[in-house]
Amino acid sequence: MKNEIVRRLIQEATDIAKKNFCCPYSNFTVGAALLTSDGKIYKGFNVENDAIQSICAERTAFTKALTEGNRDFRAIAVVGKDIEDIFFRRTIPCGYCRQFIREYTKDGFTIISYDEENDIIKTYKIEELLPESFRKE
Ligand SMILES: [Zn+2]
Repeated sequence: MKNEIVRRLIQEATDIAKKNFCCPYSNFTVGAALLTSDGKIYKGFNVENDAIQSICAERTAFTKALTEGNRDFRAIAVVGKDIEDIFFRRTIPCGYCRQFIREYTKDGFTIISYDEENDIIKTYKIEELLPESFRKE
């Protein structure tokens, strides 16, 4: 994947994570930018609520894309930080999101993390983050 695209996804993820916080319990804001195979980008942030069914940024982005008819995905950038922090720190999907992503993507789908303070980008394939995962087929 081109560095230009990776940087764009990181920028989109950090932009949305800085806006409209809905994380009053963790005070940890997470942003995600999901790239479809035809070049569209869907963004999401984590949304927390009084009960325990909060939704992560990754699943917010996927849900937006899926409900608009997208089924073919290439990559997602994920960033996170405490609201009070200056820099985003390396943040990768939780276990629930990994399973969700696994079921809606193919092998090779890329997860991009970003350590803003040190400007370090790390990428993972979904099959690396969730090997031997549950699949219905
Ligand atoms: Zn998650």
